[in-house]
Amino acid sequence: MLLGRSVDGRAIYAVELGDRRLPTSLLLVGCIHGNEPAGIPVARALEAHPPAAHVWVIDDLNPDGVAADTRQNAQGIDLNRNLPWRWRPLSHQSGQYSGPRALYAPEARLAERFILRARPHVTVWFHQPLAVVDQSGGDPAVERRFARLAGMRETRLTRYPGSAVGWQNHVLPATTAFVVELPPGRVSHALSERLLGALHAIAAG
Ligand SMILES: [Zn+2]
Repeated sequence: MLLGRSVDGRAIYAVELGDRRLPTSLLLVGCIHGNEPAGIPVARALEAHPPAAHVWVIDDLNPDGVAADTRQNAQGIDLNRNLPWRWRPLSHQSGQYSGPRALYAPEARLAERFILRARPHVTVWFHQPLAVVDQSGGDPAVERRFARLAGMRETRLTRYPGSAVGWQNHVLPATTAFVVELPPGRVSHALSERLLGALHAIAAG
């Protein structure tokens, strides 16, 4: 499904998997920071081996950033600071420019619209390079289970204003959104297999 287009006109898709009559159990976003693309092949691997549950996958929410190898979108906006919950101005100098206002970036707007419609029970956002599962403010049992199954360490990273997980955990309080920081470079085959196992388990509920 075409969600919309990036600032430079690149298509952004969501792929629907499994039984669409069921509520959405899982949304996986493979990439939001363009210079952190290691989750994209993992997202595609999940599409190739879909769970039985109802799952959506956005391989790449920031195709302009991936093309340019920049964290930000083509407006220089850090998409993960442009969601509306606790949005505040952050400068270009911070490296996390949050835009002139919340939801200024088209990529942030289409993600917000899609998530409010899909209402995923669990959402996983891939980042890099810290190699940890972040305790992001949703259900800690879900994060803990994912970390154990993926063989990753769990920690609590800084909570930033305007972040996607902060916004989701606020506006959809019965659901859980969390950040999975993949290691630097490419994801190894072994880690990819563990991540897919963890995603399947979480999707199954
Ligand atoms: Zn990131």
